[in-house]
Amino acid sequence: MKNGYVANTWISNAKGYTISSGHEWLRQKQPQQNWTHLIWNSWNIPKHAVITCIIMHNWLNVKEKLFRLGCCTDDRCIICDSGAETQNHLFLDCTYSKLVLQFLKQWCGFKIHVSLLGGLQPAKTCLKQQVHYLLWNAFYYHIWAQRNAARIQSVLLRPQKMAGMIKEEVCQRIKIKLGRTSNRTDST
Ligand SMILES: [Zn+2]
Repeated sequence: MKNGYVANTWISNAKGYTISSGHEWLRQKQPQQNWTHLIWNSWNIPKHAVITCIIMHNWLNVKEKLFRLGCCTDDRCIICDSGAETQNHLFLDCTYSKLVLQFLKQWCGFKIHVSLLGGLQPAKTCLKQQVHYLLWNAFYYHIWAQRNAARIQSVLLRPQKMAGMIKEEVCQRIKIKLGRTSNRTDST
């Protein structure tokens, strides 16, 4: 702490030391990622955004990671058992996730661009784009929830039912958001 105090401008600064400047120095503020606004925006459901943020940082405790640390006996995907359970496998390559995504694509009628890290386009302010990100966040959240249900309770919803649940949640969110927008427009 002494080094930080001397190296910083806390002595010469008229304000001197403040708790916020000390906190900033201690946590070494990281530059904002270019995808944060795709996750942390008012359209996305907060619990979905939390999981997506963890995924984007590659912090999810998938079996491949736990196996490497000696915390489990194998690294196989709990859902399909056809590969190591990595983030990429779980959300992009797993047969279950592929089927869920297929049903979602049929429903929404536009291409769902799924990418774990990179390849994301900056958000535009159009409705389609917002719905795209809303769906994308919901997909990750529910696939992870199903994986946990399969691991803890040995149950797994059928892909079509899973896609239906995601669709319902997304539709409810769109209604809430559009309702708020129209109310705000009416009041002006
Ligand atoms: Zn799998």
